[in-house]
Amino acid sequence: WPSVHSGSSESVRSSESIPEPGVYKVMLLGDSGVGKTTLAGIFGGAEDTFHHEAEHPEDTYERNLLVDGEKTTLIVYDIWDQCSKSWMQDNCLQMGDAFLLIFSVTDRASFQRLPGLLLQLRTARPHRRIPIILVGNKGDLARSREVSVEEGRSLAGMLSCKYTETSAALHHNTQELLEGVVRQIRLCKDEGEH
Ligand code: GDP
Repeated sequence: WPSVHSGSSESVRSSESIPEPGVYKVMLLGDSGVGKTTLAGIFGGAEDTFHHEAEHPEDTYERNLLVDGEKTTLIVYDIWDQCSKSWMQDNCLQMGDAFLLIFSVTDRASFQRLPGLLLQLRTARPHRRIPIILVGNKGDLARSREVSVEEGRSLAGMLSCKYTETSAALHHNTQELLEGVVRQIRLCKDEGEH
């Protein structure tokens, strides 16, 4: 299973490790080319994550965050494109504590794939309330936009998910998204405990 590319500390974890309090796995889902790897690199906070080695893909990124005065560690998994078989996809869907369903606002097909992807996720995890955020990436490419903000919001509303837009190229809204993920995880956890 992928090694951890650490943005802020040096620990290495496997998917079989016992969950630690305050450590959560965030899965990046979505079509190839929408910007998952670029976003993961930014989330990891490392400058050199664009240089991936073929034999040692660094597709897992760790980030320590202080949100609302409380520490949280997010482990971001950029493994969806490698999950070619359905059992691999199911493994990935079982592992996550939160999911970012990413599309490119310049690629309508990647947007149209989201309802099917969400159905797959909800089928794999029918009993748990998990944070799911729809993310329209490449917001900087205004002239090639094929999906409007309104369409993104409207689909998210229909699917009962949060919606946000990012530009990985400009690092726009990326920190806010990560903090939003942490807040959503805490909210779902609190609700699950009551
Ligand atoms: P992945 O296949 O989903 O992991 O997508 P990548 O992260 O490899 O990105 C695919 C291409 O889109 C790369 O050339 C990136 O540099 C580019 N890209 C990713 N995010 C953005 C963005 O927000 N804006 C622009 N203009 N390009 C982006």
